[in-house]
Amino acid sequence: MLKNKIALVTGSTSGIGLGVARALAAQGAHILFNGFGDAQEIAKIRLETEQQNVRTDYYKHDLTKADQIEAMMEIIHTNWGRVDILVNNAGIQHVAPMTDFSVEKWDQVLALNLSAAFHTSRLALPAMQKNNWGRIINIASVHGLVASTQKSAYVTAKHGLIGLTKVVALENARSGITCNAICPGWVLTPLVQKQIETRAQTDGVSLAVAQDKLLGEKQPSAQFVQPSQIGAMSVFLCSDAASEIRGASYVMDGGWSAQ
Ligand code: NAD
Repeated sequence: MLKNKIALVTGSTSGIGLGVARALAAQGAHILFNGFGDAQEIAKIRLETEQQNVRTDYYKHDLTKADQIEAMMEIIHTNWGRVDILVNNAGIQHVAPMTDFSVEKWDQVLALNLSAAFHTSRLALPAMQKNNWGRIINIASVHGLVASTQKSAYVTAKHGLIGLTKVVALENARSGITCNAICPGWVLTPLVQKQIETRAQTDGVSLAVAQDKLLGEKQPSAQFVQPSQIGAMSVFLCSDAASEIRGASYVMDGGWSAQ
């Protein structure tokens, strides 16, 4: 379905981004990986992905920095000519009450979880507009719609990302370019594993108990959302069937936001 489309998935060396990259590759899209991690592990991920008869590339640029995003997009345009599918997924979390929230962490979370999507989108859009086709998918969060304590930067960035999604969708509404957001609840990735470990330590309980508590508090299904399910939703948003879905936010949160 996506044969020969060129997909840039930010933060795709791990977790949700990797799940989305795999799902797009399974539909024939070439994958431009981005993110940090062990070089050998990333080489393995690329090799596995290429088994789908697609080409891959890897950009290790730090997306908290606008100049690095510009450099990355320039190389991509030189090497590949365009980005057809842009998945803004790279993100980090920092958990602390407002009064203890480090200014440096605030800036970092806002830069990666919100500003990076502004930069990649503004730089990818001209080629999409020239081709009159494009898909921008922003991996927001249920925290783009509701808040939790101790996550001021994350909640702010994700609410902002949903706003940005709507603006990009509206500015391109008379074209073949759509922009939508996906809002997952808990997904078991390194980002969440870190929170489970912190809770286990703070509460003096086992990892299993901390995990059950984390899920039980917010997610009525008491089950994690799977990266492959977010991948499948991304494939749908890239399909012709989704061509009139513009500026929407799809919750995939095990019932979290229905409460
Ligand atoms: P993860 O930690 O598994 O993956 C994060 C990815 O971002 C990795 O590839 C990492 O290398 C990359 N990354 C980190 N800092 C970067 C930087 N400065 N520049 C470029 N890449 C960088 O996390 P995840 O849980 O898969 O999260 C992916 C996205 O999904 C994030 O935007 C997160 O907010 C969102 N999300 C996650 C959950 C969840 O429960 N895990 C829920 C809702 C939304």
